[in-house]
Amino acid sequence: MEEKESKMGLTRRDFIRTVGLGGMAATGIEIERAMAAPAPGEAQAQTIPKRKLGKTGVEVSILCLGGMFDTINNQLLLKQAYNWGVTYWDTAEGYGNGRSEEGFGRFFSRNPEARKEIFLVTKTRPGTPEKMTDSLEKSLKEMQTDYVDMFFVHAITASNELGDPIKEWAARMKKAGKMRFFGFSTHTNMEDCLLGAAKLNWIDEIMFSYNFRLMNSPKMKEALAACVDTGIGLVAMKTQASGPAKAESETELQAVNRFLERGFTDKQAKLKVVWENPNIASICSQMPSLTILSANVAAARDLTKMGRSDLDLIERFAMDTCSGYCAGCGRICQEAVGGAVPVSDVMRCLMYYRDYGDRDLARNVFAGLSAEARAKLTEVDYAKAERACPQGLAIAKLMREAARVLV
Ligand code: SF4
Repeated sequence: MEEKESKMGLTRRDFIRTVGLGGMAATGIEIERAMAAPAPGEAQAQTIPKRKLGKTGVEVSILCLGGMFDTINNQLLLKQAYNWGVTYWDTAEGYGNGRSEEGFGRFFSRNPEARKEIFLVTKTRPGTPEKMTDSLEKSLKEMQTDYVDMFFVHAITASNELGDPIKEWAARMKKAGKMRFFGFSTHTNMEDCLLGAAKLNWIDEIMFSYNFRLMNSPKMKEALAACVDTGIGLVAMKTQASGPAKAESETELQAVNRFLERGFTDKQAKLKVVWENPNIASICSQMPSLTILSANVAAARDLTKMGRSDLDLIERFAMDTCSGYCAGCGRICQEAVGGAVPVSDVMRCLMYYRDYGDRDLARNVFAGLSAEARAKLTEVDYAKAERACPQGLAIAKLMREAARVLV
């Protein structure tokens, strides 16, 4: 059945057009079959659905525009995201070679009416209150706004990094009208960070690594439940579950073909799996091109539910390819090497290098690690860490590779 063009200009046709981007096995015939055979219940929302962000009470779009790219020269993409209902935007002082916030600011100066509709988030590293005030003021200036909706302490690895000075600082900034809410992001030891935050009473939101590989562990489920109980809003990132290495598996081919038959790509399926959890308010996704943006918007608007067999297949794929994915449990490997190397951080750099194909980002993040740790990269004995690694990663080999490609 031919579908009418929607007001948003994004229809099932667009949705299917994306098939094959991530589907290595997609042929023209398969794509046509997918177009001719709409999946049961292929209803589409008119715009991107919204969900409540914990106790903040704010409703945010379930798709968030991650700003880790050149936002200055992608103003049309920002406009299109806004027009399509992606009204939750995330950036940080260091994103886009330190210029992502400036790109958002340029957009707001040209589209002032958009500012109040965008739920705007930025971040800084934990520091002294004075340093954090400087960072926040600089971010506000770059983004040409008086306030942010959410301010994050960036990339914490343990909840005790959030002491009383930060708590008092956040309360002061809220009172001054510089930020509405406060939280943190984490991609290392996420479960412990969430469990720790649930014991505090001043965290409004957490953005954390969460995907089909991580979502089924009992500890992750426990951590989510604890945060939900205390009203902390939860936003997922790193939902494609890319890793520092590529683990081959026949299940990948099966998954690609299966999802194609259902009407979406494997990349879209990975988003949909996360949205199946109603406690995840939004997914933050880096969308540096209109192709990725339109594919993700289509997935967000598509109301087809994942079936039990879809979820089983994606779980099997996760298990078959676990040796290519770093689960961010950095405490385990870091302890095993006596704290000499932040292995999970190096793994993340390799992921940026290999999977994102963003060499500058990979090398910048790597250059931000301590010089001592970088110098020791190929000298450390990783045998104990490899034995302890729950994912079975070839840590020594990957650290040698990092030393070769990230300098
Ligand atoms: S133990 Fe393994 S999976 Fe966990 S952070 Fe270290 S390398 Fe990654």
